[in-house]
Amino acid sequence: MLELQGIAVSPGVAVGKALVFDREGYSIDRCLISKEETASEWQRLVTAVERAHRALADRGEKTSASWGADLGGIFTAQQQLLVDPHIRSEMDHLIRDNLYSAEYAVSEVFAKYAAAFRKASSSFLAERAADVRDVERTLLEALTGKPAQTLKSLMNEAIVVSHDLTPGETASFDPEKVLAICTEAGGPGGHTAIVARGMEIPAVVGVGNFLHNIRSGDEVIIDGHLGRIFVSPDQATLDRYRERRMARASIVSQLSELKDFPATTTDGVRVELMANVEFPNEAQASLTRGADGVGLYRTEFLYLGHDTEPSEEDHYLAYLKVLKDMQGRPVVIRTLDLGADKMGQTRPIEPENNPFLGLRSIRLSLRNPSLFRVQVRAILRAACAGDCRIMFPMVTTLDEFRSAKFLLRSVTEDLVSEGVRVPSSLQVGMMVEVPAAVLMLDRFIEEIDFVSIGTNDLTQYTLAVDRSNDSVADLYQACDPAVLRLIQRTQQITSEHGKSTSVCGEMSNNPAYALLLVGMGIRTLSLAPSAIPVIKKAIRSVTLGQCEAMAWRALRLGTAREVDAFLMNQLAGLVPEIVLQA
Ligand code: PEP
Ligand code: MG
Repeated sequence: MLELQGIAVSPGVAVGKALVFDREGYSIDRCLISKEETASEWQRLVTAVERAHRALADRGEKTSASWGADLGGIFTAQQQLLVDPHIRSEMDHLIRDNLYSAEYAVSEVFAKYAAAFRKASSSFLAERAADVRDVERTLLEALTGKPAQTLKSLMNEAIVVSHDLTPGETASFDPEKVLAICTEAGGPGGHTAIVARGMEIPAVVGVGNFLHNIRSGDEVIIDGHLGRIFVSPDQATLDRYRERRMARASIVSQLSELKDFPATTTDGVRVELMANVEFPNEAQASLTRGADGVGLYRTEFLYLGHDTEPSEEDHYLAYLKVLKDMQGRPVVIRTLDLGADKMGQTRPIEPENNPFLGLRSIRLSLRNPSLFRVQVRAILRAACAGDCRIMFPMVTTLDEFRSAKFLLRSVTEDLVSEGVRVPSSLQVGMMVEVPAAVLMLDRFIEEIDFVSIGTNDLTQYTLAVDRSNDSVADLYQACDPAVLRLIQRTQQITSEHGKSTSVCGEMSNNPAYALLLVGMGIRTLSLAPSAIPVIKKAIRSVTLGQCEAMAWRALRLGTAREVDAFLMNQLAGLVPEIVLQA
């Protein structure tokens, strides 16, 4: 049995067979051949190289005809890579001397070259890694005679194990088949983690290098509560986890009984629990968890996991469904937050060195007004179907907010002149995710209707920690006193001006942090639907005074570690029944 520790990002426990998935969709087993087979194996590879060469030439011709010789030239470069003498001799060596199967040799050699390119300091070379993997994929297709397996079309249930997964790939999973996810890379605040949570797939990320220790078909346990992974677990561990799953299932069923009760403290203070949703069908699911509305609809997921850009009609139908499903409850539609780790079909022309500081979110929408207008038209057309509110993400300057509002006004005028019914008034809010927005909030406040604090990005930008990087995951702490002070200041300014503030970052999913936020004056939390029952239970177990005392003390501590330890201790005292045992 092999035991590993990673970062728990989506709760739940899964036991099942591993599917080792590489980015190209091939699961390559470490398959060895006999000495006698080496000549025929090499010949098989040579034939596949010829076939792949023809396939690339064909792709190049078609691309040149449709898009010009510059783009077609990409495939000429890929053909050269395919017949590169160094690559060829390394594959030859692995087959003849190490007795690797042709597929295994291809995947080893190309993975090595792709990794070398990725590490290159020049972004031009780093981008070539994608070409290397493309050539590998074409060659594997020629070798196996099968197109790459996609996780969209899995035949059997599996635990997906991979070096990394993009949010788009994760979004395309079939949650009926993917029992859990486990990746070598990835940090606690990355969007892959958020998607997994939204889809209620247990997930552990940031495990570090371990793929060489696991093969497709191995039995695995993924513990998404504690971040543990067991490869080929022994019977005692399997039995322990079976018992734990039963105990957790019983807590979940007890909590589900709170569905129709409000999140009210024992002394009568009402807290709204709204849902964060990424996909339209989550709205319905959030109602079954007892949500008071949708506090954050991450609309950029319409672009992720799909090959083509959504049309205005696609946007419209998605928004209409969410608004109708929520039956008059508030729905906050956040405009596109594309860029950084959420790449849709609209990519920056040049790869960015610092994508989280680059053309993402509201910046990308403002830079692409035609894309932005399509979305805003669809929101306005759907808005009369419910209590629709609109929110702009990652606003940093007043100019950005004003430009976004200007576009909203102009689209409204267009629709009115076309005779389309739009709401007579619409609440317009902004996300507070950048320290600059907090510092300038007293200037924003007159122009906005509400604020939602995105603590995932606020933590990233305040502490200068990449939210999806496992090497700095220990520094990524939403309960850091610096982040808490920014939340406190935001709450003070908005309440002085009679505007509402919610917190929609992942910290709202944590019962101890949720009580802290209530103690700091926050009365609306927006969180993963699956976390609503446990947060409701926590709030219904305490008084406002207890939450305020927690906040008073936490805000006087000096480090994230002290704050976290203090809050966990308080939670264990106040609501012991929801504290999970290790
Ligand atoms: C946040 O940054 O806290 C947030 C809610 O937005 P996202 O996680 O989608 O960046
Ligand atoms: Mg954000």
